[in-house]
Amino acid sequence: MQKLEPRSRKVKVLATVGPASRSPEMLEKLLVAGADAFRVNMSHGEHADHAATIKAIRELEKTSGRPISILADLQGPKLRVGRFKDGQAVIRHSGHFTLDRDPAPGDETRVELPHPELFGILQKGQRLLINDGKIRLKVIKADEDAILCSAEVGGVISDRKGVNVPDAEVPIPALTEKDRRDLAFAVQQGVDWIGLSFVQRPEDLAEARKLMGGYGALCAKIEKPSAVKRLAEILEMSDGIMVARGDLGVELDPEEVPPLQKKIVDLARNAGKPVIVATQMLESMIESPTPTRAEVSDVANAVYDGADAVMLSAETAAGDWPVESVAIMSRIATQVERDDAYIGRVRYLDTPPDRTTADALAHACMTIADTVAISAVVVFTGSGSTARRVARERPSVPMLVLTPSVKTARRVGLLWGATAVATKDIGSFEEMIAKGKRMALRHRFGKAGDKLIALAGVPFGTPGSTNLLHVVTLTGDELKRHVSNDA
Ligand code: PGA
Ligand code: MN
Repeated sequence: MQKLEPRSRKVKVLATVGPASRSPEMLEKLLVAGADAFRVNMSHGEHADHAATIKAIRELEKTSGRPISILADLQGPKLRVGRFKDGQAVIRHSGHFTLDRDPAPGDETRVELPHPELFGILQKGQRLLINDGKIRLKVIKADEDAILCSAEVGGVISDRKGVNVPDAEVPIPALTEKDRRDLAFAVQQGVDWIGLSFVQRPEDLAEARKLMGGYGALCAKIEKPSAVKRLAEILEMSDGIMVARGDLGVELDPEEVPPLQKKIVDLARNAGKPVIVATQMLESMIESPTPTRAEVSDVANAVYDGADAVMLSAETAAGDWPVESVAIMSRIATQVERDDAYIGRVRYLDTPPDRTTADALAHACMTIADTVAISAVVVFTGSGSTARRVARERPSVPMLVLTPSVKTARRVGLLWGATAVATKDIGSFEEMIAKGKRMALRHRFGKAGDKLIALAGVPFGTPGSTNLLHVVTLTGDELKRHVSNDA
């Protein structure tokens, strides 16, 4: 593949893979265009497709030499309609439409709703919102076999479109049978992140965590009003969080979402956990090669809010312009980061350090980089925890994360400001400094004469031992003198 330019953009681009992007050629194009991480959406497609996608991404990792984060997004108890005779049908405004238990393909009068839990619990007058709320049905009559509705707002309905029932409590467990199978598959495939949809309670995360068996990181998707009520506890149980604006904006009034986005981003930032802003960011680019001005503003504002990552959904999974979508998202983030006011705006949020040595040093990195000219912070870490604490401070310079753990290197693909390189373990202080300098030069995080901050814990390889900050200057000769091979 073509040589990838070093990337120092701080905000990460997470691209959803789907039929429009799952070929190895397209995945490579998305990586080159700026994708840092890929989302495999378990709501669509078969395990065989996902396995092929994951394999292609891991190949790409080898050929590009860049660690890539993969998020397997579990569908969760998302309700969906069945399939239609022609793949779709039109529901007439003010017409009638029935959701039933008949698996026969649907038409303009009816479709299967393959969720037994919904039959017998709905009441007259309650709403059913289909396809992100674009179609609005009101229940006229509901029994054990059928839900007869009138269409307050009709429209085109197609195979497996989502259904939200904001007015009713749906007695569905946090992880469905499908989620359990998908989770086992994702763990076996070695993905880096598991996304849990429609989290309602902290216990939902505990359950997922148990099934993960200590493998991978857990991202809670905030898309239910009940999760909003218990945000702090849910964040505490998660490794990262997603502002899942698609379903959140259907379950709540859409105007409630922007303030919540800011609140969720702030909470996650204060906790030092990556936060992803997702859904409809460049929605019009599903069909158009250029975004609307409002979409450009939305992406830019998520970056100004301090998000770690911004996500593309159908734009890259099923749209006509996946590469262009990634490229423009990357350009918008880069442009914001060039704004002299960006760091100041992001730091409007006070994130007082914990009273730990690691946090004191992470904070010092930030103030040193603000005080003297520094080209990068080089962080040596095993678990990635030091990198997360540095990112939490939102330093003005990029961070190069050196780690012997491939898993850690991949996982920082969703972390603000961090670029990871998996390297061999280091044995001594001298070795660490030499390696930090070499890697910074090689990956163009500095040039001759530039200063770097090296941050590490001694003894090496002891978790939670961050206790060493060293400011070094590059001579530019570090690569020449080096004889052995770096991993
Ligand atoms: P989804 O999650 O794309 O899996 O629905 C994101 C959202 O709801 O915004
Ligand atoms: Mn969702």
